[in-house]
Amino acid sequence: MNPLRADLISPLEMFKIGIGPSSSHTMGPMLASNQFRDKVLQLLMTKSQPLANLQLVVELYGSLSLTGLGHGTDGAICAGLMGLKAKTSDVEKILSAKAYLEQLTQLNFDNNSINFIPSKNIKFLAWKINDQDLPHPNTLRFLLSSNEQIIFEEIYISIGGGFIELIDQKTLTRELPKDNFQTNISLPFPYNSAQEFVEQCMNSKLKPWNIVIANMEICGISETVLRAGLKDVLRVFNECIENGLKNEGILPGGLNVKRRAKALYAKMNENSSNKSLENELKPSVYAIAVNEENAAGGRVVTAPTNGSSGLIPAVFRYLQEQNNLSLDMLQNGLIVASVIGALVKTHASISGAEVGCQGEVGTSCAMAAGGACAMLGGNPHQIEQAAEIGIEHHLGLTCDPVMGLVQVPCIERNAMGAVKALNAVALALACDGQHMVSLDKALKVMKETGLDMNQKYKETSTGGLALG
Ligand code: SF4
Repeated sequence: MNPLRADLISPLEMFKIGIGPSSSHTMGPMLASNQFRDKVLQLLMTKSQPLANLQLVVELYGSLSLTGLGHGTDGAICAGLMGLKAKTSDVEKILSAKAYLEQLTQLNFDNNSINFIPSKNIKFLAWKINDQDLPHPNTLRFLLSSNEQIIFEEIYISIGGGFIELIDQKTLTRELPKDNFQTNISLPFPYNSAQEFVEQCMNSKLKPWNIVIANMEICGISETVLRAGLKDVLRVFNECIENGLKNEGILPGGLNVKRRAKALYAKMNENSSNKSLENELKPSVYAIAVNEENAAGGRVVTAPTNGSSGLIPAVFRYLQEQNNLSLDMLQNGLIVASVIGALVKTHASISGAEVGCQGEVGTSCAMAAGGACAMLGGNPHQIEQAAEIGIEHHLGLTCDPVMGLVQVPCIERNAMGAVKALNAVALALACDGQHMVSLDKALKVMKETGLDMNQKYKETSTGGLALG
């Protein structure tokens, strides 16, 4: 049984402001490191005497081990252990954390020094932990020792989109995510499937976003707080597009990928008399701009992941420019997009390491299509259809990033996904919302396809395009 319920996942959890290049391999491990740091600080505070010869080892398993270097996992762990926050800390400080600790050779936790040299103490391991299968392809373990005796240990999994879960060390099973598993909460409009969401909209005659707003109020998130958070998200979307359209050069990581958003944007504007070319290129250029920022380790929003962070900003910005959409309406669109993302997270996965790129760019396409359809006046059936088209035509999409970097095929894939999302909306709006494959069915198939997919196509860089 999946313990999560889609209606309890807030839009602000689906859209998290953070740093690139990967939500599962960068943001998740950084958050886990933040949490581990806080617990160690508490533990050390309870000791009357400082503990001797403290040392920390961080072990990375599975996909985190295979593509962690390319995704900057080690740097993110260093930043997290230093107490830096993905949402608010200076990006330059985050990017330089690993080099800083490498020189310092220790972490300073209040009055305690913990020996920690990133190149030595972050270990890239395999697919077994304690001789058992991993609880998730993205597993990491923190081991704190004093005088070579382990005194505190924690295992986390990074499940995509910057979400993490703590694992029981003995059974290696997932502990229930307490902040989401609030089965006692009685929501005014409960739903845990696309069908139920559509029914709630139809029966209540409320706008789809108002269903979520009413539920979130009960969860303690007022409409004011929700809209303020989403305003921030939209601001970062736009800053990211602007930065991506300005910045040039070679992306970091050694693949020598040249940034192209700026040149493409200039080319598009050169041909401003050719409106149809401009309209065709614009969403792609916006998506590429964001994903290049992400690949460079810049500040982005999980939408629902970092690898797929360009698609929704591109679609929303394009539609805003075309239709002069208000801030309120863009927020409404994000709320509906988050419902689609929450349904995927609950019934399939938004992690490339778990189900391939269908879980990242596929989900993002479905979210963009559903959210955009709502903004353009689609009814609940059409919204569900738009999202279903978005995911259906990404089923089976593999994740095979070259050199483990979130660059090829990821950047261009967001551009293609944005175009598909716009087509999905156009198709849904031109139909009556009746269609053969439901979104719920597509998500079931997505999960099964992901489980059947060979491991080499699930963010391990051991197959497909990654082999050159
Ligand atoms: S191929 Fe897709 S799932 Fe894999 S890292 Fe790139 S964007 Fe993420």
